[in-house]
Amino acid sequence: MTISGNPDITLYNNPLPRGCELCRLGSKLVVFISGECGDSCYYCPVSSERFNKDRMFANEMEVKELMDYIYESYRMNALGAGITGGDPILALSKVTELIGMFKDEFGESFHIHLYTSGRYVTNDVLKELVDVGLDEIRFHPLKEEYKEAIRKALKYDLDVGIEIPSIPGDRERIVELIKWAEKEGVKFVNLNEMELNDRNFFQLNSRGMKVGHGITGAKGSFETAREVINEFKEKEITVHYCSSVYKDVVETRTRFLRTIRFSSKAYEDFTGEGTIVRAIVKGKVDGLIYGERIGKNLYSFYPGVIDELISKYDVSEVKIVEEHPDSRRLKVSERLIYSKPQQTSYSS
Ligand code: SF4
Repeated sequence: MTISGNPDITLYNNPLPRGCELCRLGSKLVVFISGECGDSCYYCPVSSERFNKDRMFANEMEVKELMDYIYESYRMNALGAGITGGDPILALSKVTELIGMFKDEFGESFHIHLYTSGRYVTNDVLKELVDVGLDEIRFHPLKEEYKEAIRKALKYDLDVGIEIPSIPGDRERIVELIKWAEKEGVKFVNLNEMELNDRNFFQLNSRGMKVGHGITGAKGSFETAREVINEFKEKEITVHYCSSVYKDVVETRTRFLRTIRFSSKAYEDFTGEGTIVRAIVKGKVDGLIYGERIGKNLYSFYPGVIDELISKYDVSEVKIVEEHPDSRRLKVSERLIYSKPQQTSYSS
């Protein structure tokens, strides 16, 4: 068997878990259900705005209602969802209600995976999750005793995996864990590139770690993952390294392009980075059909028709804006490209 992938993005020895396959298509909605967690790993990548806060996000957007996850799934034509946190089991009733909503709305094939440390996973919890339709569960067994939850999960009709950070230099401990997982019948192990952020920076820095890959990836994390995957390249268990660059750039861009394909308007242009580009026009251009009126004498138009508009209508100002395609429409840039010359009158 060979190792597939690209070291800057992702490496794996066997076919990827279904949840990761859908993520690579940009078709997985990221459900951050709550930041509450009973653990406090020194390397935790969850930001201060989210960690231990009872806040919900659909991809990058904060949401207030479970129904908002359904709306966002429609926008990107999602084929599945990954539920994460914090530890989502601390928000179990929201999780089960949401899984039920997804399956009712999009059918059984809508694939759902869930991340948890395993700390609160009992047989009752597993039964509830499986009954409502969870497809895949990923454990982060940061303590020895949490492995018991993995053994329990393996008795249910679920794909069971492990998801841990690739701590630089921690090869031996990771290899031992994967050997244990393989013996137990765990299907896959995801090794995430360790990430430095505002919240964990001092903890990681004081342990000698610094950024060495992309914007946030810890130096040495990839090398450790590569050594581990090499050790399992002939084995049945899937070992998969996922880089911070993949999450920061590829996953977001693929998802944005997918959202554009399914939800952008006919008069919007887009970039290869997955952002929407449109022209905001001030003036009197009523009656035109290839744009949208967004206010009094204010319109949104396809950027390619601007020259024609300026020459034929009473346009006073044109700005080109670039935005994220999700419902927040976060502005990336704004450029004034036309401003009608003021008429000056001279009196004698
Ligand atoms: S278990 Fe996960 S969410 Fe909780 S502190 Fe550790 S890394 Fe963060």
